[in-house]
Amino acid sequence: MTYVVTDNCIRCKYMDCVEVCPVDCFYEGENMLVIHPDECIDCGVCEPECPAEAIKPDTEPGLESWIKLNGDYAKTWPNITVRRDPPEDAKDFDGKPNKLAELFSPEPGQGD
Ligand code: SF4
Ligand code: SF4
Repeated sequence: MTYVVTDNCIRCKYMDCVEVCPVDCFYEGENMLVIHPDECIDCGVCEPECPAEAIKPDTEPGLESWIKLNGDYAKTWPNITVRRDPPEDAKDFDGKPNKLAELFSPEPGQGD
């Protein structure tokens, strides 16, 4: 089991999650974060910290594509352990549907 970051993180990226992870297993893309499935120890601490409710346990149904996306990009995006300010327009994107198709970027973020 692992935890995964899902759709509503895209363009929100509040980064509250990175501050609480005991094993520093978040990785940063241009406009979302992912969790490394082999590093996550399933502690669950990050799930309630995410203001966008974007973090889910992989035991929830329907998350197959997100499990793959987290695993794939955690291998290439840089590690992030220190919270930065979220984008100024993050609130405008909270809860928007279909972000993966319309807003996802495969480009890496800046990391720590
Ligand atoms: S707190 Fe939630 S929305 Fe913010 S970066 Fe982490 S997973 Fe994404
Ligand atoms: S469940 Fe725990 S170990 Fe996994 S990403 Fe969240 S805080 Fe880190």
